[in-house]
Amino acid sequence: MTRTPPRPVDARHARLMTGVAMLAAIGTLLIWLTDRQEGLLTPWDQWTIPALSALYFGVGVLHMVQPRCMSLAAPPTLIATSVYLLVALHLGVDGQSLPQLYAVTSLVQLIPVFYVIAFVAWQRGGVWISGLTYAGVLAQYLFSLQTPAPAGGWTDAHLLTQKTLLASVLIHPACILALSFIVHLRVQLGTSQQEAFKGKERFLAMLSHEIRTPLQAMLGSIDLLALKLRGSAETRALDRLRNSATQLDTHLRDVTEFTRLEDPALRIQADTFDLPQLLNELRDDWIGQAQAKGLSLRIELAPGDQAALQAVKSDATRVRQIVCNLISNALKYTLVGGVTVHASPSRPHGARGMTIVVEDSGIGIAPQHLQTIFQPYVRLEDARALRVDGTGLGLAVVQRLVGRLGGRLHVDSHPDRGSRFTVELPMADNG
Ligand code: ADP
Repeated sequence: MTRTPPRPVDARHARLMTGVAMLAAIGTLLIWLTDRQEGLLTPWDQWTIPALSALYFGVGVLHMVQPRCMSLAAPPTLIATSVYLLVALHLGVDGQSLPQLYAVTSLVQLIPVFYVIAFVAWQRGGVWISGLTYAGVLAQYLFSLQTPAPAGGWTDAHLLTQKTLLASVLIHPACILALSFIVHLRVQLGTSQQEAFKGKERFLAMLSHEIRTPLQAMLGSIDLLALKLRGSAETRALDRLRNSATQLDTHLRDVTEFTRLEDPALRIQADTFDLPQLLNELRDDWIGQAQAKGLSLRIELAPGDQAALQAVKSDATRVRQIVCNLISNALKYTLVGGVTVHASPSRPHGARGMTIVVEDSGIGIAPQHLQTIFQPYVRLEDARALRVDGTGLGLAVVQRLVGRLGGRLHVDSHPDRGSRFTVELPMADNG
């Protein structure tokens, strides 16, 4: 049964959070070390700061190995940090001494940083945890006002502590409001982007339907006409007509598919499937075309590890599309020799996965074009000179699909010696 996995993890956000967690781990440990040297640590700081540092480090490592746990780790980490900040602040507020003044001033400067991290790490809960932390700061300020003055009056340190707290009580709401506004704008942007994609997709689907329906009728009529025509000139003209109609149909399909891939809400349907079977089916689809050009088309499986390839976990439809586009190109841009598809189990990014290589003995690609070929609508002069049909979207679609599946795409090519496209895909994680 096909299950719909949760929304794929945003790799950039996961990397950002790993960086933030590691920086926080190092930062807190450095603060602890320097404060210890200066004798500024309270008994509370003595063990809570190293514990927090270890927590941040653990969260950083967790993000690296299991980015999906990011949403689970953020709330407890932020709550623990908030509790630490509020207790440390509380211990410093009533103080009359310079170390306590130092504790309060440094903490109220750290709290806005905490708000920022809270909003980035926990978008929905960021406003709550920041609001609650602020309520804690405000309560401490109000309670500190109730404290009766000692016989000799307040010390300068205490008065400065009060002023620092007052300033933070006044400034922090602006900080929280600004962050909430940014998050609101971000959500709105996401929604309008989504609507724009939907509109574009609807338009293209309608256009594609309106054009493809008469196109199919034209292709049917061409086939009927072909049965009646005798002369070779007429047959050639009809063949050209059929080719043009088929090209138009392919172009429309490519453009629609490419647009669909731009949709950020596109879901990946991960399931276990038999990769060798999928590759053999593709071979059956393409062998006729290969033979018509006098080319070979072979599937090679890594020896010894067949069982692993027979139960790979990914989106079979997308994997099929990736390999199909690569085989189609390999056959298009090869004049002699053939195309080989290798498949092997691999371990990309430390996780179990698969590697699929499509290799040809074709015209190859000059080194300066190796990056541009993945851009949409880019076709090289060689391709045009060969007069092969194309939209320049095949590789752009492949690159986006590989990215959506969390994999990597690599190309190795030499003019006149052939090309080798390597796709590394991790096993899908439905968790
Ligand atoms: P299309 O094939 O429709 O032109 P693609 O995006 O699939 O568009 O490929 C972009 C360009 O990259 C092609 O026009 C061609 O010049 C080059 N190319 C792609 N695959 C190969 C290949 N296997 N061998 C040589 N050139 C290739």
